[in-house]
Amino acid sequence: MPDAASRSARLFARAQEFLPGGVSRNTLLYDGPMLYASYAKGCRVVDVDGRERIDFANNVASHIHGHAYPPIVEAVSEQIGRGTGFTMATEIEIDFAELLCGRSDSFDKIRFVNSGTEAVMAGMKAARAYTGRSKIAKVEGGYHGAYDYAEVSQAPSPENWGAADCPAAVPLAKGTPRGLVDDTIVIPYNDTEVALKILNRHAHEIAAVVIDPLPHRVCMVPASGNFVNALRRWTIENHALLIFDEVITFRSEVGGMQAHYEVRPDLTAMGKMIGGGFPVGALAGVNDVMQVFVSGEYGVPLPLSGTFSANPVTMTAGYTALRYFGPSEVAKLNELGDYARKNLTELFRTLDIPVCVTGIGSLFRVHLKPEPPKNFRETFQAPAEKAVVGAIVRSLYEEGFMMIHTCSAALSTPMTRLEIDMLVDAL
Ligand code: PLP
Repeated sequence: MPDAASRSARLFARAQEFLPGGVSRNTLLYDGPMLYASYAKGCRVVDVDGRERIDFANNVASHIHGHAYPPIVEAVSEQIGRGTGFTMATEIEIDFAELLCGRSDSFDKIRFVNSGTEAVMAGMKAARAYTGRSKIAKVEGGYHGAYDYAEVSQAPSPENWGAADCPAAVPLAKGTPRGLVDDTIVIPYNDTEVALKILNRHAHEIAAVVIDPLPHRVCMVPASGNFVNALRRWTIENHALLIFDEVITFRSEVGGMQAHYEVRPDLTAMGKMIGGGFPVGALAGVNDVMQVFVSGEYGVPLPLSGTFSANPVTMTAGYTALRYFGPSEVAKLNELGDYARKNLTELFRTLDIPVCVTGIGSLFRVHLKPEPPKNFRETFQAPAEKAVVGAIVRSLYEEGFMMIHTCSAALSTPMTRLEIDMLVDAL
């Protein structure tokens, strides 16, 4: 813990006066000290007390090139000098859209928004408008952003999650409209047989099935090809849409994880790293579906707007980040992820402790389980286990390493094997 006299501790005390809980992001309020950043470069962050840490969190997987990446700093500085937002479109929006559309067969058109949350929300709205249906199916425990539709069954517990073959739709907050909960169909992760049974019960009402192919809160194990293909087939046969939430996973291949499955979802939500460090979201999709934003059944296009959507600073940062994240950079970073998972797994095996590591590409998560959990229920942590995970993450901060609070990591291109070896040593 930072001692009470530290600048971080004093700032956190002052923050309580003006910010509920002292923050604007609940995800920063885990069981650890609140630290305040001063500056960062590459994969190292220095806090306001002058302490340097290696950054395995990368603003929750949003920095693919670490901090203050020179090409982004240069391009963004130049754009800021020319203006930061106009009541006009800018050319860089088209350049970035073209670059992204070139990365996947399923990206005919793209709309930019300001966060991953907004991107998934836009996807759900588009699916409803396109199909004329209201229900959305999602995986139990899946995180798709911070708004009430996405929050259904985001964090259920054994007291309320219901039978394994019929998971309950559990609202996150009191007062969540009942209709919204009833319009959410919850399916178990990677259990094709049960998922299809549940979907079939609502076949004529489902607008879309949303899946994150490497859901970090569910288990951070990739969706099986069988599961993804079955959902693709089911959605086609039942005139529903398949939405891939690649807000985190788009970093795993040049064309996102959908390239890995060779599947063509109707819509894809992106965010995080495609903003080059700036607030971003994007919804990409096939022509036919994306047309809902241009013309509607009643002659009214589906509204999707935002004062800061496709902001030129964000577009410049994102475009630059992706230009420097092509096939060779993706492969190199994924290899580093393999190296991390292998060495961490070996460490726990050598120490003979029942800990395992999941993830693929540049993402990994450490679980206090002997075997990789297969779904949200197996990943679920009772309070005692959660406390140990919290203690591990806290000690890593003490040792000079920043992790995502679930003890997960997202690597960045400035990292090398050296930083991984240092993390393994610290653990
Ligand atoms: N979807 C997934 C899979 C995410 O991991 C997140 C954020 O962690 C979101 C959506 C929401 O993105 P944002 O935090 O940019 O709103």
